[in-house]
Amino acid sequence: MSFDIKQFRDIDPGQRVLMGPGPSDVPPRVLQALSAPCIGHLDPTFLTIMNETQDLLRHLFQTENELTIAVSGTGSAGMEACFVNLVEPGDEVVVCVNGVFGTRMCDIVGRLGGKLIRVDAPWGKTIDPNAVREAVKGKDPKVLAIVHAETSTGVCQPLDEIKTIAGDAGALFLVDMVTSLGGMEVAIDKMGIDAVYSGTQKCISCPPGLSPISFSPAAMDVLRNRKAPVVSWYLDMSMVSSYWGNERKYHHTAPINMNYALREALRLIAEEGLEARFARHLVNHKALVAGVEAMGLSMLVAEGERLPMLNTVRIPEGTDDLKVRKVLLSDYGMEIGGGLGDLAGKVWRVGLMGHTSRRRNVVLFLSALETILKAQGAKIIPGKALDAAAAVYT
Ligand SMILES: *Cc1c(COP(=O)(O)O)cnc(C)c1O
Repeated sequence: MSFDIKQFRDIDPGQRVLMGPGPSDVPPRVLQALSAPCIGHLDPTFLTIMNETQDLLRHLFQTENELTIAVSGTGSAGMEACFVNLVEPGDEVVVCVNGVFGTRMCDIVGRLGGKLIRVDAPWGKTIDPNAVREAVKGKDPKVLAIVHAETSTGVCQPLDEIKTIAGDAGALFLVDMVTSLGGMEVAIDKMGIDAVYSGTQKCISCPPGLSPISFSPAAMDVLRNRKAPVVSWYLDMSMVSSYWGNERKYHHTAPINMNYALREALRLIAEEGLEARFARHLVNHKALVAGVEAMGLSMLVAEGERLPMLNTVRIPEGTDDLKVRKVLLSDYGMEIGGGLGDLAGKVWRVGLMGHTSRRRNVVLFLSALETILKAQGAKIIPGKALDAAAAVYT
């Protein structure tokens, strides 16, 4: 085998419009922050950046929780961090499952030796609080876990009633907010959430690599009163929190430049204002749905249960799923997601997350999709989508 360094060209991925389930488009200011000089993880300048990142995260989560930090790793690391710190072998854990990410939670609980109490709902539907109430009857769960924004289906899960069930059962309420954080209201103190994790590449519009998490005082108590040490050394929040806290004890080297990027993405969010940002996500979602429906296509999820940042559109019959996505990417530089699991080949997942959630992207997507579907001979209603979307904005 000959090795020729000339085969390895400069990295030049080109421009994309990222309208899939994440990552979303990254604003130039965030990319610029990434390229600032790398400094030491105990440099006073970096420690200040960490403190500011915590303040910005608390603002976004609308929380006073002291343990509010960015875990070094993607959203799944945040998921694992929550379970591994709060669950010990033999603990009963309720997990609500209506998509890929609830399923992943079950996998983690099993690996930790937790006793899984699983509550299922069909993919594309919300979890029924009555089913949760039934499942916890006569049980003593330590944690009740649920996904707020199921990115695999586009379902938005109401949390109020299920929070009350968790509280009545004496369980910590653990919520996956990977896709909701930054795109819709996530006020974790008001919502009574004890442990939450998110990711940087969905509605925060930062590259993937960090996972914001937050633990309530009740979750911290559970962590402090564990019988055995956390089985993951890397994700042990009792140690990681000493680095983020006043002691500044070395645990692992923070991904310095990723933290710069997150701080900048959070600063952009605070500058825009939470309410304005959530309203922007909602109006672009409504315009996209209006356009898609005017074209004669239908949404997987019922109105009133849809996420503003992730739209699941049913693929019309006789349409070549892969070919449509391939042409979108090659001719329009646009990425959308396909379906997962049972929904593979049945839906497209169209993200309007963070910086991607803009009118120009809605219009580009609708016109591109219409052109491609017409060329494929799909039965659609032509010429109506853009006007329907425009009407939402006026
Ligand atoms: C993306 C996502 C995850 C996993 O995050 P990774 O960054 O891919 O590890 C978990 N939960 C939900 C709801 C997600 O959308």
